[in-house]
Amino acid sequence: FAGLGTKGLPAIKEEMVAKSVELLHLQFVDLEGILKHVTVTAEQLDDVVDGKIMFDGSSIKGFSPINKSDLYLKPDLNSFTVLPWTEEEGYSEARFICSVKNPDGTDFEGDPRNVLKRTVERAEEKGYAINVGPELEFFLFETDETGRPTEQTQDFAGYFEPSPHDNGEKVRLEIYKTLKKMGFTIEASHHEVARGQHEINFKYADVLTTADNAITYKWVVKTVAKKFGLHATFMPKPIAGENGNGMHTNISLFDIKKGENAFFDEKDENELSETAYQFIAGLLTNVKSFAAVTNPLVNSYKRLVPGYEAPCYIAWSSSNRSALIRIPAMRGPGTRVEIRCPDPSANPYLAFAIVASAGLDGVEKELKAPDAFDEDIFSMTAEELFLKEIDNLPTSLEFAVMEFEKGEIGRKTFGEHVFSEYVGAKKEELDSFRTTVHGWEMEEYHTKF
Ligand code: ADP
Ligand code: MG
Ligand code: MG
Ligand code: MG
Ligand code: MG
Repeated sequence: FAGLGTKGLPAIKEEMVAKSVELLHLQFVDLEGILKHVTVTAEQLDDVVDGKIMFDGSSIKGFSPINKSDLYLKPDLNSFTVLPWTEEEGYSEARFICSVKNPDGTDFEGDPRNVLKRTVERAEEKGYAINVGPELEFFLFETDETGRPTEQTQDFAGYFEPSPHDNGEKVRLEIYKTLKKMGFTIEASHHEVARGQHEINFKYADVLTTADNAITYKWVVKTVAKKFGLHATFMPKPIAGENGNGMHTNISLFDIKKGENAFFDEKDENELSETAYQFIAGLLTNVKSFAAVTNPLVNSYKRLVPGYEAPCYIAWSSSNRSALIRIPAMRGPGTRVEIRCPDPSANPYLAFAIVASAGLDGVEKELKAPDAFDEDIFSMTAEELFLKEIDNLPTSLEFAVMEFEKGEIGRKTFGEHVFSEYVGAKKEELDSFRTTVHGWEMEEYHTKF
């Protein structure tokens, strides 16, 4: 599989000497998927590998209370990467992605990466590995004299448009080179539909590697954009009236014993296996309860409106880009389900965990998928949708959080700690939004009333 490589300690030490690594960043994410790290010197490598580096969990969103705040970082050796933008003659920096441990050496239940690891184990118990390839879209914005982001996009190009209209080509090239040096396999890179909007695709891998890759990708995109004096954002809908940023999530199960894609069955009319249909059914059944995770912001729901290639109705199809779930044409090892609602502001560990968990739920309960839906859903009337029993995704974060709290899949996938921290954090965010007077209100009401 593609990924950041499998490196043993001797190989890591060799690379550190060869590239004169002086500093090591120990990374993890908080509840919202925001990257955190503490930096230590290369001389501490042995302590790092032994998981002896401690930090204050009470200062990390969604982690531990002040009276149980000591947590430890245990690096995943596979994630060791020298950071290309730090390399100079006789100096460089590297990073490890870590799992968070309690003082007694057990996994800390509040760590989103540990949540995903538990979902991976659940799939493995059933004989499956989970493979994921996400498509993270982003915008490039100009910055002002003080370096702060403006609302000016960096170009006015459209889908697949080349330079000179595509002003982001040189930025994407630099992102590509950086990711490649870090071990990524890049599949494609292109201008997206909206002005200033881009997408760079990296090859799928096992879900844990992919979540690590998604975090790394976002960090690299922002870092490189900044070098060009630009601001990169993964905010779901930065410009009203333009396409928003999606994180289409391509997912498949791999049968470990048979050594083959568990979604492919050449005998079926769609060449999909029973497992694939059950997985799709699990996604459709649970999507309302997990939208608060795959679409976590107030702003996320401004993307999920008809007409912008983002889904809002709960249906699946073989090719339809207005449906929530699309089955790309590829079969054999490339057989996969593409779920189109997630956006790149989601915490990738939690989002991939809950999407996989919802699909597995369908497999465990042997749920039956409804018929595929190949018409353009965006052009259907409310009455037609009603008659065809096509339901809506939640239309706001408030509804999504209500569904998340009510549903089973959140608590089951996250465990009590992360589940309740997540609900609490989202309610706080909603309350802050609700009690703020927004620009739109001033414009509409201030002089009129
Ligand atoms: P789209 O046609 O929707 O724009 P992309 O080509 O941008 O799709 O992205 C497709 C993603 O799906 C890539 O990350 C690719 O590696 C991934 N992918 C391919 N095969 C599989 C598979 N079997 N399981 C999961 N992901 C896969
Ligand atoms: Mg201190
Ligand atoms: Mg794509
Ligand atoms: Mg796209
Ligand atoms: Mg796609």
